Amino acid sequence: MDIPRIFNITESAHRIHNPITPDKLATLGSALRLVSGARVLDLGCGSGEMLCTWARDHGVSGIGVDMSLLFTGQAKCRAEELGVADRLSFIHADAAGYVADEKVDVAACVGATWIAGGVAGSIALLARSLRPGGTILIGEPYWRQSPPSEEVARGCLAHSSADFLLLPELLASFQRLGYDVVEMVLADQDGWDRYEAAKWLTMRRWLNANPADEMVAEVRARLDSEPVRYATYTREYLGWGVFALMAR
Ligand code: SAH
Repeated sequence: MDIPRIFNITESAHRIHNPITPDKLATLGSALRLVSGARVLDLGCGSGEMLCTWARDHGVSGIGVDMSLLFTGQAKCRAEELGVADRLSFIHADAAGYVADEKVDVAACVGATWIAGGVAGSIALLARSLRPGGTILIGEPYWRQSPPSEEVARGCLAHSSADFLLLPELLASFQRLGYDVVEMVLADQDGWDRYEAAKWLTMRRWLNANPADEMVAEVRARLDSEPVRYATYTREYLGWGVFALMAR
C-alpha cells in the first residue's frame, strides 16, 4: 500500500508537502496557543514537519498517519533529529476512517482532504477523534480569483472550477457545517514557489540519477511542462490556507 510513485519521486526532498512555509507553520502553531502536553492527530501528515516542530516548540505530543512509506520514514527521522521521537508516533496507513483511540485536542488534515472525500467528510472524520471543545485544522486550496474558464481550472489541476471555493465562500462553508472559524494562516505565492519549484530540482536530480528507470518519460514530461503550467495557472489563481475550526 502506498501513494502513486510519482509523488514519492517529485516530493522526496520536501519537508512540507504544501505551499505553507516553515515560518508560516510556526506562525500557525503560535496562533493556536497550543499548551504543552496537548495531543495532536494529523491525517495525511506527510513527512511530519508540523507535528515535529510543534512538539519541539510547544511540547505537543501526537500521532501522524500517512500512506507514503517514504514520508512516514522521513517523519520518524525528523522526530529523532529534533529530539521529540518519544512524544510522536508515525503510522504508515490509509487514513480513511482513522479514528484515534484516545481523544485529541487538535485534529488536523492539512492538504489531504480527499482522504475522507472532501472538506466536509474530513471534518466529520476528524471530529470523531476530537475531545469536546477541541480544534480541527483543515488545510485546503481556494480560488484567489474565479477561474475565467474550465480550462483555467484544469490548468490548476482541478477537475472543474467547482472543486474549490473563493476564500469567503470557503469560510462560509465551514460555518454552515456548524463550526466557528477561529484562526487561519494563508499561504502566499512565495510559499507556492517553495512547494512547486522545489519539485523541479528534485525531478532534475532524479532524472540524472535514474536514467534507466521506467518513470523517466513521465518525470521528463513533467519537468518540461510544470514550470510554465504552474506560472500560468496555479500561481495566479489558487490560494491555500490552514483554517482552525471549533464546533459551535
Ligand atoms: N500534511 C502534510 C502532507 C500533505 S500532502 C504536509 O502538509 O506536509 C498529502 C499527503 O497525503 C501525502 O503525504 C500523501 O502521502 C498523503 N496521503 C494521500 N492519500 C492518503 C491516504 N489515503 N491516507 C493517508 N495519507 C494519504
